[in-house]
Formats: sequence, C-alpha cells, structure tokens
Amino acid sequence: MIKEIYQTDTLIIGAGVAGLAAAIEAVKGGTVTLVHKGRPNISATQLAQGGIAVVMDRTDRPEFHCRDTLYAGAGLCRRQAVRVLVQQGIPAVAELLKMGVFFDRGEDGLELGQEAAHSHRRILHAGDSTGAEVERGMAQYLKKNARGNLTVYPETRCLELLRGRGRCSGGIFLSAGRQFAVLARHTILATGGYVQVFRYNTNPSALTGDGIALACRAGARIRDMEFVQFHPTSLYAPQSAEQQFLISEAVRGEGAVLRNVRRRRFMPDYHPYAELAPRDVVSRAIVAEMQKTNADHVLLDFTTAAVDLRARFPSIYRQCQSLGINIAKDLVPVVPAAHYSMGGIATDVWGRTNIRGLLACGECASTGVHGANRLASNSLLEGLVFGRRAAQAALKNRKGVPPPLPGGYAAVKINQPAGNRASIQDGMWQYAGIVRERAGLEKIWQQLQELPDSSPEENNLLLCAKLCVRGALRRRESRGSHYRLDYPRKRWQWRL
Ligand SMILES: Cc1cc2nc3c(=O)[nH]c(=O)nc-3n(C[C@H](O)[C@H](O)[C@H](O)COP(=O)(O)OP(=O)(O)OC[C@H]3O[C@@H](n4cnc5c(N)ncnc54)[C@H](O)[C@@H]3O)c2cc1C
Repeated sequence: MIKEIYQTDTLIIGAGVAGLAAAIEAVKGGTVTLVHKGRPNISATQLAQGGIAVVMDRTDRPEFHCRDTLYAGAGLCRRQAVRVLVQQGIPAVAELLKMGVFFDRGEDGLELGQEAAHSHRRILHAGDSTGAEVERGMAQYLKKNARGNLTVYPETRCLELLRGRGRCSGGIFLSAGRQFAVLARHTILATGGYVQVFRYNTNPSALTGDGIALACRAGARIRDMEFVQFHPTSLYAPQSAEQQFLISEAVRGEGAVLRNVRRRRFMPDYHPYAELAPRDVVSRAIVAEMQKTNADHVLLDFTTAAVDLRARFPSIYRQCQSLGINIAKDLVPVVPAAHYSMGGIATDVWGRTNIRGLLACGECASTGVHGANRLASNSLLEGLVFGRRAAQAALKNRKGVPPPLPGGYAAVKINQPAGNRASIQDGMWQYAGIVRERAGLEKIWQQLQELPDSSPEENNLLLCAKLCVRGALRRRESRGSHYRLDYPRKRWQWRL
C-alpha cells in the first residue's frame, strides 16, 4: 500500500513547452504539482531547432496561417482548433517575449524565418536552439512567479492515473525507488509523443508515449495514432542510431537543396514547392531516390543557402563539424527519421478529454490542429496555446481536491526486466514506417502481440505501437503522413 499521499489543485505531468505553459497559468489560481522525468534533454522541447510559427509580418494574416495548416493536415484538421491555434498564438508569443524569451533580431526587429509549406515568413527562432531558449525562459519565469503555489518533482515518473468516482483524481509516481500518490482536482498530461516506437527517430529516448498509454488504460479516447510525421532530414550517422540528430527544415527555407548520391537535385520532380513541399512528400521522395540509386542516404547541399551558416545554424554547424563535415563546403548525408506524433489523447479546444478531471496538451494530445500532417513549427505554438487553455479550463472548474478513496492505493507492480524496445523499434521501422502496406502491417501486428510483459516504459511503447499499427491497418487510403502502397489514392480533396 502507498503511504505517501499528497494533494494539489492541479497536477501537471510533463515540463516541456506544454507543461510549462499550463503551470504558468495554473499557479495563478491554486496549488500546482509539476512532475517530470527531468534530466537534460528529456523533453522534445529542449531539442526543437527551427522555431515557432506565428503571424507577425505585415504581409501575413491569420487566415494564411490557417490555410497553410489545413493544407498540410490533408483534410483532417479540426478547423475550430486551427483557428484557436493561429489566433491565440499571437498573444501567446507576445507573452513569451514579455517573459524574457530571446528570439533573433535583425535591423527591422524580430527576424522571421521561412519553413516548408508556409506561404509567408513567420518562424521566430533563437539560432537553431529555439526550444531550449523557450524552455529556459518559461522555466525561469515560472520559478519567479509561482506565488508559493508550485511543487516540482524532477526525476519522477508517473506510473498510473488514479480513477475513482467517475473521474481522474491524480496519479501514482515513482521517484528514487519509492512510490507516492498525488491527488488532484485536475490532472493535465503534457508528456510528449510516441515516435520512439520507430528505430530511427529524433526524440529523447526517455519519451516513451507514457501519457497516451496511461490515458488509454484509464479509458480515455485516443485518436489518429497512425499519423506520425517523418522528418525528411536527420543526419545520417549509422554509428549513433538511437536518436538521430535533426537538420532543421529552416536550412531548406534558407535555400539548401537536396541531391541524390549522384549529386542530382530531385525535389522539383516531385512537388511544385520542391524542397519546401510538405514533410511527407519530401520524406517519400527521399525514400524513392534512395531506392533508385541503391543508397542508404541522400545529400543536403548547404552551399546554395544564402545565409551565414555558422551564425544562423550554430548547433548544426558544430554537430556536423564533430563528424568531420564542413557544411559550408561538403554535402551532408541525411535520411528521414520519425519526428512528431500527430495522434494522441483526444481533446476539445480546452484540452478536456472524455474523462472528467483529465486534460491533455502538447504532443501527447490530439486537439485536431495537425490533422494528417503537422505544419512545421506549429507544435511549440500548440504547446503554448493549448497548455495555457487546459490550465484555464481546470481553474474555471476548481472546487477542492477529491478526498482519498477509502481503502487507499495499491503500489504499482513493476517488472524491471526490459528487452522489447529494439524489437518494437525495428519492426515498426520496417513495416509501419514511411511507406506501409497491409501484409507488413499484419506482420508487425502479430509480432507486437507476441512480445512479453516488460518494464512500464516499454509496455507504454508497446501499447502506442499497437495503437499506431491498428490505426494504419484500418485507414485504407493514403493521406498526409500515412502512405499505403496498397491504397495509394487520396480520398480527400483540398477545399477551403
Ligand atoms: C529534434 C527536434 C526538433 C524540433 N523542432 C521543432 C521546431 O523547430 N518547432 C516546433 O514547433 N516543433 C519542433 N519540434 C517538436 C516540438 O519540439 C515538440 O512537439 C514539443 O516540444 C512537444 O512539447 P510537449 O511539451 O508536448 O512535450 P515535451 O517537450 O516532449 O515534454 C514532455 C515532458 O513530459 C515528461 N514526461 C514524459 N513521460 C513522463 C512520465 N511518465 N512521468 C513524468 N513525466 C513524464 C518529460 O520528462 C518532459 O518533461 C521538434 C522536435 C524535435 C525532437
């Protein structure tokens, strides 16, 4: 039985951009407990490079940003959610600036970058470490403005959500070998995505789709799990296969082009936007070129970019240099990698799930803003906007913490041995990756069924992988990031 039980108004699980945005809002109206796995680089936010999309340029308008988002989403975006994202994103980013987050500036004020499938320049950036700067600024602001309402548990994992009396009433956590319970009026999940189910991915290895799996086991509705965005360009470095180093889209926005191993530029053959086509198009084009040329990578040519590479992309410059590649002169070998989870816990535009007291925001949530494919740089914005709204929804309906359930809480049984991760990742990459078909999906489905019980995080990964494959089998069409060789036709038409 669990002996340590704490109480709080709002429990927030995850401290990336979405969890921090929720916490900054929630401390204004009650006590907040913020829990996260907390070692460096444990959030995707920390790694975000390119920037945040927001309408700022005089020639840009929210309608244009909406239209670009809907187009990338291939007919599956929820329009209301997109409108909220784009419109509320403008004041949310203004708040970020007030909090002391620094973005790059030019002579005329804030510099706006260009990224794939954006019709206007609207990407605010802090070098190529935008996420780290956003997280730094927000965490510092939260610490200063917590009003004594904040308790933080770093290096702590949520093992289970508590359900009782028809609602979610908190969670059970593990920290340094001891389990404790936190009871809360509202629980906000902000635990990030599940792309770790794929062998090649850009996320920190500790992000194992926990929030989605926990919510699913608690009875929350999960949707769109087949939609996983593959980033076209991660550095091809076969010796470090676990987390691929991302080469931001912004480099193509600044003029870098893709060439196959025969040095031929190929993207104009595939899409009128060439290198700036939506990510799914570019990823599939790369796979096709790799097959055509019998190569395991393609090449990114920075020499056509019209910026000072060292100043604009310092991390990419350094990372490539550490592998002996000078991006100002050499062609850089790249491959696609799983990058972003569009699917997740179904929520409304206030982050509310179908379970009372349980909310979700950021990458673990499916608000409907991304549809079948996310527009580049919309996810930091989503975390900011919907993290804040989830906390606002929680504060609106605050009546005190539910009392502990009679009988107490049993500790969660933990199976320590782990060994499923490689099987899940390899199988998912091979059969449920960029290009899918029924036979492969059925094969991986069968393999996943046969895997034994494992550690909590691997069990979470396994559940997310199953949800992804089930969605991919059921979706008999190609749409956005989901491409089936046996159903190549799109069943949607672009309409505004
Ligand atoms: C390399 C890279 C580059 C990117 N570049 C961009 C970009 O330029 N622009 C953009 O908009 N997006 C970008 N993205 C995507 C974007 O960074 C993420 O979608 C976004 O940061 C997700 O934020 P989040 O708060 O939902 O989750 P995360 O930032 O991933 O945070 C998840 C949090 O949950 C915690 N957590 C997870 N499981 C548990 C558990 N069981 N118990 C307790 N805590 C838990 C983690 O410790 C962490 O604090 C990029 C992503 C990557 C990986």
